[in-house]
Amino acid sequence: MTGFAYEKDADGIVTITMDMAGPVNSMVPEFTPMLDETVDRLQAEEGLVGVVLTSAKSTFFAGGDLNGLCQVDDSNVEAFFLGVEEIKRVFRRMEKMPVPFVAAINGAALGGGLELALACNHRIAWQDRAVQIGFPEVTLGLLPGGGGVVKGIYLMGLLGANEYLLEGKRVTPEKALEAGLINETVATLDELVPRAKAYILENKDNAAAAVQPWDTKGYKIPGGSINSPAVAQMVPVATAMLRQKTRGLLPAPEKILDLAVSTLKVDFDTAMRMESRGLAYLANTPQAKNLINTFFFQMNKINGGASRPKDIERQKTQKVGVLGAGMMGQGIAYVSAMAGIEVVLKDISLEAAEKGKAYSQALLQKRVDKGRMTEEKMASVLALIKPTADSADLQGCDLIIEAVFENMKLKHQITEELEGCLAEGGVWGSNTSTLPITQLAEASRNAENFIGIHFFSPVDKMPLVEIIMGEKTSDLALAKAFDYTKQIRKTPIVVNDSLGFFTSRTFGTYLDEGVRLLAEGVHPVLIENMGKKIGMPVGSLAVFDEVSLELNRKAQETWKEMGVLDKWGDGTVTRGVVDTMINDHGRGGRYHGGGFYEYANDGSKAIWPGLFDLYYKPEVDVSQADIQDRLLFRQVIEALKCLETGVLRSVADGNIGSIMGIGAPAWTGGLIQFVNTYGLERFIARCDELSAAYGDRFAAPAIVAETVAKGELFN
Ligand code: NAD
Repeated sequence: MTGFAYEKDADGIVTITMDMAGPVNSMVPEFTPMLDETVDRLQAEEGLVGVVLTSAKSTFFAGGDLNGLCQVDDSNVEAFFLGVEEIKRVFRRMEKMPVPFVAAINGAALGGGLELALACNHRIAWQDRAVQIGFPEVTLGLLPGGGGVVKGIYLMGLLGANEYLLEGKRVTPEKALEAGLINETVATLDELVPRAKAYILENKDNAAAAVQPWDTKGYKIPGGSINSPAVAQMVPVATAMLRQKTRGLLPAPEKILDLAVSTLKVDFDTAMRMESRGLAYLANTPQAKNLINTFFFQMNKINGGASRPKDIERQKTQKVGVLGAGMMGQGIAYVSAMAGIEVVLKDISLEAAEKGKAYSQALLQKRVDKGRMTEEKMASVLALIKPTADSADLQGCDLIIEAVFENMKLKHQITEELEGCLAEGGVWGSNTSTLPITQLAEASRNAENFIGIHFFSPVDKMPLVEIIMGEKTSDLALAKAFDYTKQIRKTPIVVNDSLGFFTSRTFGTYLDEGVRLLAEGVHPVLIENMGKKIGMPVGSLAVFDEVSLELNRKAQETWKEMGVLDKWGDGTVTRGVVDTMINDHGRGGRYHGGGFYEYANDGSKAIWPGLFDLYYKPEVDVSQADIQDRLLFRQVIEALKCLETGVLRSVADGNIGSIMGIGAPAWTGGLIQFVNTYGLERFIARCDELSAAYGDRFAAPAIVAETVAKGELFN
C-alpha cells in the first residue's frame, strides 16, 4: 500500500510507517480509506500481538487538511461533518482491536497528528526539541475534531486540558508526559520503535493494555466530574473569563469550552459526535477562514520568503551598529545580541550608550531570575554589546541601523558622517517611523544600500519589522534587511516608501476616527468600548494618549514643513482637538502627565473629566454599529489604498502587518482579508452608506470594485 509501509516481525508485531506523498503525513482525502484498509489487514492478520504506528517523515503527522477546511460552506458542511465522523469511525476501529496500538512519535504531533496518536493505546515520544505536541486548532478558529477535545478532557480533566484546548499550547514531550498526553519518552530516536515493541511484548498478556481509558469501566476523569465542587465552581468563572478575553469575537474557544463541559455530562460516543458537529460549525465560520488564510497560508508565505528577492543568496549579519541608545536603539541592540550578533551601540556620550546597554542587562537578569537563562549565557549575550561614543568602533559593521531623534537634518548629518564606517557592501537602515526613506537616502553616497527597517515598541516584544524600500533601494539591501529580521526571529513585511509607510499610516486612521467621534459629541467611554468591541486591543483615545498627542503635534509640524500635511486626508478635526488639548489644557498624553485620560499613581486611569465639558453632547446619537464600522472601516480603507497604490507589495504583507504591527483584530485575518469574508460587494454598499452619512473618507477604494469585476478575492 502506498503511503503506509507495513511490516510484521517475528514476534507478531506490525509496524506501520507512514510516508504519504508530499512533505508531511496529513488528513488529505486519501488518508481515511488508507487507514481503514490498514485496519482491515490488521484484523485479518494471524497471531497479531500489537501494532506500532510511526512516521518516515521528520514530523509524525501534520494533522487536518487546511486546504479542504477552507472550502467548507453551507452547501457541503454536512458532507464535511460526515467526513469527520468517518475518520473517527476508523480511529474507533483501531481502539476496539484486541491488541495494543503504540504511537512511536518521532516528530511533531500537532492537532490531527496528536489525535491519531490518541487513537493508539500508548504513546511514546522521542525527547527532542523538534517534537512538539499540542492542539493548535483554536489559533486557526477551529477545534480538534478528531477526538482531541473529548479525549483531552478524558486524559487531563477540564482544568488540565484548559490551556491545551483553549490556548493551543504546544509542549515538549517532557511536558506532555507530565500532563498525561503521552505515556513515555525515549532519549534517542534509535530507541523509539524498539521501545514501542518492548512495551507491546511486556503487555502481551495484559488485556487492559488494548483498552482505552474511555472504554474502561469505572474510569474517572481527572479533576472531577461535572458535579464535583471544583468543576462546578470553575465552569461559570471560565466562561466569564473567556468572554472577557475574546469579547465574543472568536467562536472557536467558546465552542471548545462548551464541548469540554458537555464531555463531562454526556457519554463518550455522544460527546464525540457533538465534537464533529462543533468542528463542522467552526469550519464554516468567516473567522476560521480568516485565521487559516492569514496565520497559516500567508504566514508561511511570508516566513518562506515570498517578499524577498529570490536570486540573492542568504545574507548573514555579523556586526550591527546601532546609532542612538534610546528607547528603540536599546531594544534593537538587545534583540540583535540575543541572536548572537555583535553589536556596537553608539550614542552621543558613553554614559548614554551604557544606559542603553543596561536595558539589555535588566531584561536578561529577569530571564535569569525566572530560571530561563543561565548566568553564563547572560554574560555571553552582554559581551556582544559594545557601548560607545566613538565612531571608530563602527568600522566594519555590515549593517548600521540608526535610531536617533526623528529629525531629517540630524539623520542626514549622521548618514554623511558615519556611512563610511560600513564594511564593503554594507547596508544602512533607518528606524524612522515617519520620514520618507527616499528623502533620507538623499544624504547617502550609496542610496541603493539605504533601506527602512521599522521596528515597533517595545522592540523585544513586538514580533513585526516593516522593511521599507526607498526609490533606489537595491534587492541586495532588501535581502540583507530581510535576512537580518529573520536572524533576530521577527517577521518581516516589505513595503514601498510612502508617508507613514503602511503601518503608521493605517494606524493613524483609527486614532483620527476616534477623535472625530469625540469632536462630534459621542460619549468618550462609548468610543473606547466600541473600539474594544471590534477587537482592537485598546480604545483609540487611550492609544492616542500612549503614542502622545505631543508627538502627533510634532509630526504635523514636520509634515507641514515638508509640504505633505493632509496628504492622506483632512486632518483638521484631529489637529483642532490636539491643539485644544495641549495649548489650552496642557494635556499632551500619558508621558506628559495626562491626555484624554488622567492617570493615578496606582496605575489606574479614567477619562479626563474636562473632555465631557469640551466635547460631549448627550443629544448626539450615533448608533453603536456605525461607531464600530467607522473605527474599523477607516483602517480597512486605508490598507486597501496602500494596496491599490503599491505601498503594499502583497496582500499577505498587509494582513500580517496589520495584525502584528498595529493590533488589527485577529478575527478579521488582517485588514484586507476582512473584506474577503465580509463580502466585497457588501463592503462597497456599506462604504456607500457610511460615506453618505459621515463623509467621503469612507468611499470604497476603486480596487474593491475592480476585484469584484475580475471575480476574485484579495489574495
Ligand atoms: P529616543 O529619544 O528614546 O532615543 C534617541 C536616542 O538617540 C537618544 O538616546 C539620543 O541621545 C540619541 N542620539 C541623538 N543624536 C545622536 C547622534 N548624533 N548619535 C548617536 N545618538 C544620538 O527616541 P526613540 O523613541 O528611540 O526613537 C528613535 C527613532 O526610532 C526615531 O526615528 C523614531 O521615530 C523611531 N521609532 C520610534 C518608535 C517609538 O515607539 N518610540 C517606534 C518606531 C520607530
